[in-house]
Amino acid sequence: MYNGKESASYYLEDQPAAESQPRKPKLLIVDDSATIRATLSRAVGDEFDSHEATNGEEALQLLENDQGIDLVVTDLSMPKLDGYGLIKYMRAHESSRLVNMPVIVVTGANDTEAREQAFIAGANDFIGKTSDHVEFLARVRAHVKLAQTIQELEQSRRYLKEQADTDPLTKLANRRSFFASASTSLAQMRRQSEDFSVIILDIDHFKRINDTYGHQAGDVVLQQLAMVLSTAIREGDSLARIGGEEFVVASPYTNRLAAIVLSERLRRAVENSEFMFEGNRIPVTISLGISSMSKGNDDVDKLLAIADSRLYLAKQKGRNRICASDKAGKADRLVDTDMVCPRLDDAITMIKHGNTFRLQPHLYELGEQLIPVLELISNQKTDPPLDIETIKKAIESLLKPD
Ligand code: GH3
Ligand code: MG
Ligand code: MG
Repeated sequence: MYNGKESASYYLEDQPAAESQPRKPKLLIVDDSATIRATLSRAVGDEFDSHEATNGEEALQLLENDQGIDLVVTDLSMPKLDGYGLIKYMRAHESSRLVNMPVIVVTGANDTEAREQAFIAGANDFIGKTSDHVEFLARVRAHVKLAQTIQELEQSRRYLKEQADTDPLTKLANRRSFFASASTSLAQMRRQSEDFSVIILDIDHFKRINDTYGHQAGDVVLQQLAMVLSTAIREGDSLARIGGEEFVVASPYTNRLAAIVLSERLRRAVENSEFMFEGNRIPVTISLGISSMSKGNDDVDKLLAIADSRLYLAKQKGRNRICASDKAGKADRLVDTDMVCPRLDDAITMIKHGNTFRLQPHLYELGEQLIPVLELISNQKTDPPLDIETIKKAIESLLKPD
């Protein structure tokens, strides 16, 4: 996700944007002959920051450790790892930096076959051992310049794409990119016959917040809310800002009930967060509408329209609440949040805070979630042994939710 720190005007990837003086490009000269290394290094003078390696293996190590190297000039015949091997390693490397780094090969004057092999391995250019320093410097300059231009273009392409996909205030995905990613995710869930839900949520009485504390406070609330929601969603969920104070979560592998649990988690996280502006605590709540994929209700537009109508109902019925379909999926129904089974980790926190009354109706479901853990413990042949069957029976005897 766009972090707001990147700039399209980077000179090189590892350079801070604020630096106005471009740093010297780094050159790695790889040759087993100290004389040739010294000659090449002298040829580029102090226009480049040149480093040396005596064989391919050493060069690879340097390339992997030093992210700042821009170009490699290499000999072909060397001990340990030769020039062909070095280029092949670079071109097959997991880092695109090494795959795309320009490599100039230094060869004998009439060594056509060697050049051909090096070319096949992925060399970009050749220079004769007898070439003069002017020719060498010109080649190096040209390749560094080309690599920089490609890198800058790639960075501005990424930057522009991020701009087009991102809401500038909250740095969340915007409506346009949400539709694209949610549609892809929904289609995948449909193919796999898996569940998919969307949740629309909207800040309650946001206009009042603007009117009371000012528009800037409203903006800060939107930014903080984006953070609270980002922390409360699960991995795999996607969150976007799709309107002024309206956000949406798309959840793959999530049915109606799981979406209710997630929505309650979001509702509670917002209600319990401290939204601060200039020393004032601003109370913030949200209302939520849920819609889950079903036959005939299986594209993002339809799901959002239904979730939106449920959000409207949640607003009408008093705000700071959730509306979903009833179990049969026939009617819209407000969710009694006391009836939402909390996640196991939340339940444990509630127990620690002495909040056990809220858990009473959910003990069966929570106990059931614990069984796999208890089974694992009982497999460890503990002393005394854990009587897992009795525990299972005890849980089964609890009130089963309908
Ligand atoms: P409800 O509980 O029914 O949702 O009431 P509300 O006041 O939240 O809803 P309403 O749609 O009446 O008002 C939304 C307000 O959100 C009006 C608009 O000025 C404000 N708003 C929209 N986008 C932004 C923004 O980016 N920053 C700020 N500060 N305010 C915004
Ligand atoms: Mg609102
Ligand atoms: Mg609104």
